[in-house]
Amino acid sequence: MTKLAISNGEKTKTKAFPKWPYSNERELELVGEVFSEGNWWRMAGDKVKTFEKSFAALHDVKYCIGVTNGTHAIELALATLGIGPGDEVIVPAVTFISTGSSVIYANATPVLVDIDPETFCMLPEAFEKAITPNTKAVIPVHMAGHACDMEKICAIAKKHGIKVIEDAAHAHGGQCSNKMLGSYGDMAIFSFQNGKIMTCGEGGALITDNEELYQRAYLIHGVGRPDGDRIYEHKVLGSNYRMNEFSAAILIAQQERLEDMNKKRHENALLLDSLLQDIEGITPQGRKDYATLITHYMYMFYYDSNYFNGLSRKDFVDYLIAEGIPAFISFPVLSETTFFKNNDFNGHLGKFEQSALNDLSNSKIIAENVVWLPHYTLLGDNQDMTEIAQAIKKIQDAVNNK
Ligand SMILES: *Cc1c(COP(=O)(O)O)cnc(C)c1O
Repeated sequence: MTKLAISNGEKTKTKAFPKWPYSNERELELVGEVFSEGNWWRMAGDKVKTFEKSFAALHDVKYCIGVTNGTHAIELALATLGIGPGDEVIVPAVTFISTGSSVIYANATPVLVDIDPETFCMLPEAFEKAITPNTKAVIPVHMAGHACDMEKICAIAKKHGIKVIEDAAHAHGGQCSNKMLGSYGDMAIFSFQNGKIMTCGEGGALITDNEELYQRAYLIHGVGRPDGDRIYEHKVLGSNYRMNEFSAAILIAQQERLEDMNKKRHENALLLDSLLQDIEGITPQGRKDYATLITHYMYMFYYDSNYFNGLSRKDFVDYLIAEGIPAFISFPVLSETTFFKNNDFNGHLGKFEQSALNDLSNSKIIAENVVWLPHYTLLGDNQDMTEIAQAIKKIQDAVNNK
């Protein structure tokens, strides 16, 4: 029996995964231009504008607004739609906290619905069932870059007059039925936080094809000021969500590599799926035919401790990390987080009450049993994929005393 790295045995991983965030001379060149031109904010420079244009074009929409981060992008989208007290917004029960907490920030009510046990994306039927006369918007999340069933979700939303905000924080350049994610909804948001598949450390974007929504969002994102304003004209109530020129310079370079990296992750994810097929107790996130381009922000899989002699998921993750494989446990069901449980919304008016009508059984199973590897593990080579599978098998054999 080989000794586990957690017990001071030799690590499975023989070489490091590719470093993330990745950058090269291109980022330095573009950031250098911001310094030499001397314009550090978007109102004076051209980097944010250039980035917005190319990011909108990538997603087949007319407009993009670069913002401070993905959370703010959701807040901005909700503010643009005028969502507030008494309004309900439907969100998947398992996602990063911002999808739900932004709704509370808008003083509205998040309504959690169940997700698909295979794709981990919002179930269209669960969305439709949760609609009430107060429902104003839905925020489907393309989990780990796997598309939600957007044709169905948009059809239901249209029938009921509900706005769609796509949370594409994991899905830069992803597709559903060969159409760009982010181009289905009334608006879509992206994150460029440090771990995301394109990053400037902290950043976000809102995209839309609707000129009216764009104009309104643009004003709100810059404390209500129109472009070029020199007279402190504040046309609407807004906040300051503006992206700075340095972030945009970095993102221009990051976007240039996105397509190649998406392709690489796709190929490696397929390879890893096949390598894990023979390991009992490990079941990767599935793929639906309509998810024509999966960006693989995370490599997610169910972990069944029954096949690992009862080893807890948390210990399994620690064992993997010791073997040199970075790993995390799934996002929780949002209503299981401390502030949700305490209904402690810091003075915000949004209320939360989980209706018994909205069954969250898939979400609970996923939140309790899923493990994920960060996307840069999929930027490596065949050997990296083989070593991931070997590490999992080694842990399984060791805990089963094989
Ligand atoms: C990362 C993330 C966000 C928030 O983005 P930040 O830039 O970190 O604020 C929103 N939704 C999802 C699904 C995310 O993973």
